[in-house]
Amino acid sequence: MANRAYNFNAGPAALPLEVLEQAQAEIVEFEGSGMSLMEMSHRGAIYEGVHRETEDLLRELLNIPDGYKVLFLQGGASTQFAMVPMNLLKPGTVGAYVATGSWATKAIEEAKLFGETAVAASSEADQYKRIPQASEIALPDQAAYLHLTSNETIEGTQWQSYPDTGDVPLIGDLSSDILSRPLNVSQFGLIYAGAQKNLGPSGVTIAIIREDLIGKPAGAVPTMLRYATHAKADSLYNTPPTFAIYLVNRVLKWVKAQGGAAGVERVNLEKAGLLYTAIDGSDGFYRGFADKDSRSNMNVTFRLASEELEKLFAKESEAQGFSGLKGHRSVGGLRASIYNAVPLDSVRALVEFMNDFARRHG
Ligand SMILES: *Cc1c(COP(=O)(O)O)cnc(C)c1O
Repeated sequence: MANRAYNFNAGPAALPLEVLEQAQAEIVEFEGSGMSLMEMSHRGAIYEGVHRETEDLLRELLNIPDGYKVLFLQGGASTQFAMVPMNLLKPGTVGAYVATGSWATKAIEEAKLFGETAVAASSEADQYKRIPQASEIALPDQAAYLHLTSNETIEGTQWQSYPDTGDVPLIGDLSSDILSRPLNVSQFGLIYAGAQKNLGPSGVTIAIIREDLIGKPAGAVPTMLRYATHAKADSLYNTPPTFAIYLVNRVLKWVKAQGGAAGVERVNLEKAGLLYTAIDGSDGFYRGFADKDSRSNMNVTFRLASEELEKLFAKESEAQGFSGLKGHRSVGGLRASIYNAVPLDSVRALVEFMNDFARRHG
């Protein structure tokens, strides 16, 4: 496809071209059924096959051990900010959070609506340029869980390894780096991720929850907002977002064809390496936002000497076919989101543009 943009959008984000073309071929008639997948019952054998296969693929690619339920939910990761405390924060316990940036802060603010919270570690004093060390984390007594944000999509920081929380369940918002690298699910009590960064389109949120955490919530929780409801019904309690789950299925097959989590990680490291090398080798023309040891391999954030120059970069890059390079409105600067489906060639083209821009404006 000649006119495909160099897509660096933060989310919804690039999808593999092969997956889009496959969806196009399958959209009117699905597997000889005489109708689109979107037109058929979620209780029928054909959709159910897609649903089960999608779960199986997630289990395989993320190496999810027995004892964990995989759920397909709605309401985005933002609804998980509420579902986590509604289901897991019992009276007399404390929801502990690591404050790493914009998304972690939203999770904390939401949890405050439902119970007692504590900030177990924070990098706010460093403008969220870094991920706290494990040794900085102070778990409160009676911690119900420790919540962390694996990849801060807006600031461009990423946990390189997760802390050991002992008996306290670790909860991870992995929205922007799930399946970008191998994962040890057994370190977590609960993982959740909106699909629209690494897994597919918006509209479905994946949750992976350890079965012992699924019990009855302490307070009155709406049926749709209880993990137990969806766990018991295999995510078919009500109508799931069937088309979004189907697209996740096709993206997962694509990931499998790339060699799974380890295969996409190799390419992700190469892509991130190219961009950070361009930034670090620019004699200060580009300045990486995050501390080096906290840098994200998914969202590369950087600044230029002035906001005017950043505006010019955004404008010129857009005119040359690059999309989504303007930083989030809350922090400014520039950001290249390089999720799994962003091709290496798009990154090579961006590096070339960056070098050229620096020559012309340096
Ligand atoms: C995008 C994002 C969210 C919000 O996801 P929605 O699906 O829009 O609610 C939450 N956390 C992180 C880390 C994200 O990147």
